[in-house]
Amino acid sequence: MPYKFNFDLSKVPRFFFTEMATVSYQKGMHRTLIKKLQEIILTFRIQESTGLNLSDSLVLLQDLIDLQAVNMIERGKFLQTKKRALFLSHCTRKYLDSRCKAVFNSNIPSYSCSHCSEDCLVSQSDHLARKKGYDVYVVPGGSCIPNILKNTHYEGVVGIACGEEMRVLKPLLNSMDVAGQAIPLLKNGCANTVFNMETLIKVL
Ligand code: SF4
Ligand code: SF4
Repeated sequence: MPYKFNFDLSKVPRFFFTEMATVSYQKGMHRTLIKKLQEIILTFRIQESTGLNLSDSLVLLQDLIDLQAVNMIERGKFLQTKKRALFLSHCTRKYLDSRCKAVFNSNIPSYSCSHCSEDCLVSQSDHLARKKGYDVYVVPGGSCIPNILKNTHYEGVVGIACGEEMRVLKPLLNSMDVAGQAIPLLKNGCANTVFNMETLIKVL
């Protein structure tokens, strides 16, 4: 399910994400969470960078913190896994129209990238992940993932989507005992979306 607002964090300094990870790991943060988030929003001028109001900024940052925390908690388990898959949201393709030459297989359901554009995030991710032994799925929506997981029995899953989509998937991965690592989009909007390739390289 998409956010009710659009955001673009791709121009926010990398240090912001380090700070987020640190905050997410601090003990007892729940007591001071809102205050800390407001401080971070002010320090990194998130409202000015994104045009979001304070309330939407808080929702977005809370999701990013939750994902960072889950990534850290699950990291050890994920590293033990052998059979892994990478799931990308279809919105990360360079083109969403007929210029994208990916082949859609409705039986899975997933797009299979044909590598028509070297600068497409999906193409680069597909190359990287397959070299490391991952299966790769480019899915039209998070609702496609439960069936794929039921039929494939992966032990570890890396997902790239906006935070709200990831939040919905987390209970599913828990219920199937699949270790998850999430890479949230830095820019949403369901087209021309962006995530950080360096983060993907580290996570894979
Ligand atoms: S590189 Fe792959 S996903 Fe990207 S536009 Fe081309 S076929 Fe589609
Ligand atoms: S931005 Fe991408 S991942 Fe998020 S709801 Fe839209 S299509 Fe799905």
